Amino acid sequence: MGKNMHVSVIGAGISGLSLAAVLVRSGIRVTVFEKGDRLGGLAASFKRDGYIFDLGPHIFFAKKIIPKLNVFFDAGSVIVENKNLTQGIYIQGKVFSHPFKPKEILSHIEKRKLPEAVIGAALSNLPIRNSQQTLEGWVTSKIGKPLFDYIELDTYVRKLYGIGACDISSDWGKHRLKPIANLKFWRVANAAVNPWAKNKKRHSYYCPGGIGEVAKQLADYVVKNGGEIRLHSPVEEIVANNGGIEEILVSREGILKPVKTDFVVSTIKISDLIFRMKPKAEREVLNAAGSVRHRNLIILYMVVDRERLFDHCLVYFSTKDTSFKRITEYKHFSPDMAPENLTSLSVEICTNPGDDLWECGDHEIFDLVIIEIEKLGIFWRKEVIEYFTVRIPTVYPVYFLNYQDHLKALLDYLGGISNLVSIGRHGLYQHDNMATAIENGLNAGELVARHGTEDPETVSKVVYEERRSKYNDIS
Ligand SMILES: Cc1cc2nc3c(=O)[nH]c(=O)nc-3n(C[C@H](O)[C@H](O)[C@H](O)COP(=O)(O)OP(=O)(O)OC[C@H]3O[C@@H](n4cnc5c(N)ncnc54)[C@H](O)[C@@H]3O)c2cc1C
Repeated sequence: MGKNMHVSVIGAGISGLSLAAVLVRSGIRVTVFEKGDRLGGLAASFKRDGYIFDLGPHIFFAKKIIPKLNVFFDAGSVIVENKNLTQGIYIQGKVFSHPFKPKEILSHIEKRKLPEAVIGAALSNLPIRNSQQTLEGWVTSKIGKPLFDYIELDTYVRKLYGIGACDISSDWGKHRLKPIANLKFWRVANAAVNPWAKNKKRHSYYCPGGIGEVAKQLADYVVKNGGEIRLHSPVEEIVANNGGIEEILVSREGILKPVKTDFVVSTIKISDLIFRMKPKAEREVLNAAGSVRHRNLIILYMVVDRERLFDHCLVYFSTKDTSFKRITEYKHFSPDMAPENLTSLSVEICTNPGDDLWECGDHEIFDLVIIEIEKLGIFWRKEVIEYFTVRIPTVYPVYFLNYQDHLKALLDYLGGISNLVSIGRHGLYQHDNMATAIENGLNAGELVARHGTEDPETVSKVVYEERRSKYNDIS
C-alpha cells in the first residue's frame, strides 16, 4: 500500500490538522472530516463587526513547538511573543499575579493569620501526611491547608469541574498547577524575604490575527499538498472487521456515505468514538465510555465602553462571589480584537450538560454575570454596549477520582483495533493545552507515516503508552 495508503482524520482541530500536515508532507493521501463549519476546533477564531474573537483566551506557551511548525509555514512570524499576556487571579478582594508570587501572597495575608499560613506550609513539606490521590491532599501537601483555603482553590475547582478538590484526582494539580508542583518551601521562604529573589520568567506567544491562524496555516499546507478537508462532514460510524477498520460512514446533507480507508485517526471525544464503533464494543467498554464526564462552557462576550479594564490579559476568579471562573480582556492579545476606545471581554461559566443555566437565554446569563461584576465594582451595566454568548458542549474532561480506571478500559479496547488511533485533547481525555494537541498530532503523524501500512498496531501502542505514563495508575 505504502504511499497509496488513505488516512481518514476525524476532526479539523489543531491535533488533526497537525497530523494531516505531517502525512501530506510524507506523500500520503489524507482526508480530514470536520463536523462543524470552521477549522481549528477549540483553537478557532471568528469575526464579529470586524473584530476578532477567540473561544476564550488562547495563549501559546510552548516556544519549542514553533520550530516544529516552521516546517509547514513561517510559524516564527505567525506566532509571536507578546509581553502583554500576564495573568492575574482574584483572591480575597485583590488581583494577584498568576502564577503566584509568594511574596505578593504572603504580604497580603492578614498579620494574625500569617504565622499559621507559614507554619502550615513548612509542615506540609515534612514527610507526607495527606492522601496524595486527591487534588486537595496533593495541594495541601505542598502549601499547607491554611494557604490552600486562602487561595480558594476548592471554589475554583468547583466552578471548573462541578465537584470539590477532595473529589478531583491529584493528576489535575500535577499537570495544571506546575508552579505548585515545583514548589519547595525554602524557595518560597527565600522569595518572601530576599528582595533580589527572581521569579521564573514565562514567555507567552500569540497570533496577532487570532489564534485560529495556526489552524488556518496548517490547513493551507494540507490542501496545497494534496490533502482534502471536508467541513460539515460528521463521521457517524466507524466500521471494523477482523480487528481493523474497513470504512467510516460520513453524514453529508443527512445522507450517510461510506468512505473506504486504510487508517483512521480520531480526535473526537474518546467516548463518542467508542459509541460510533460498529460492531458495538462489549458492555464493560460501553459502561466505561458512559462513565467519563465532561463540563460544558458558556462564554459571554461583552463590548464595554471603557478604554481598558484590567492590567492582565485574563483574570481567574476563585472567589465564591462569582459564578464565572475567568474574565479575558482581548485588547492585551491584539489591537484587532477590540474597537478603538472600547474594550471587549469574555466571561466563562462552566455547567453540567443539561443544567438549567445551559438552557438559559443570553439575557439571563448576562443578568447573572453583570450583577456579580457590579458588586465587585469592575464596571457597570450601562457601560455594556453589546453582549452575546457562545456555548461549547463537553469542553473540559473531568479528572474525577478513579477516572483512570475508565480511561484504561477505553484505551485497552481501542488498542485492540489495529489501524485506528485516538489522539488530541478529547481523544486521549486530557485537559491540556494547544502545544500538547499539536505535539500529539505531529508525533502520531510520524508514527502513521512510518508504521501505518506494515505495522499499524505500533501507532496506537506508542500513543497510548505515552498517555498512560503521563498520569497516575493508568498502566
Ligand atoms: C476556553 C479555553 C481556553 C483555552 N486556553 C488555552 C490557552 O490559553 N493555551 C493553550 O495552549 N490551550 C488552551 N486551550 C486548550 C486548546 O484549545 C485545546 O487543547 C486544543 O485546541 C485541542 O485541540 P484538539 O484538536 O485536540 O481538539 P478540538 O479542538 O476539540 O478538535 C476536535 C475537532 O473534532 C470535531 N468533531 C467532533 N466530533 C466530530 C465528528 N463526529 N465528526 C467530525 N468531526 C468531529 C470538532 O468539531 C473539533 O473541530 C483552551 C481551551 C479552552 C476551551
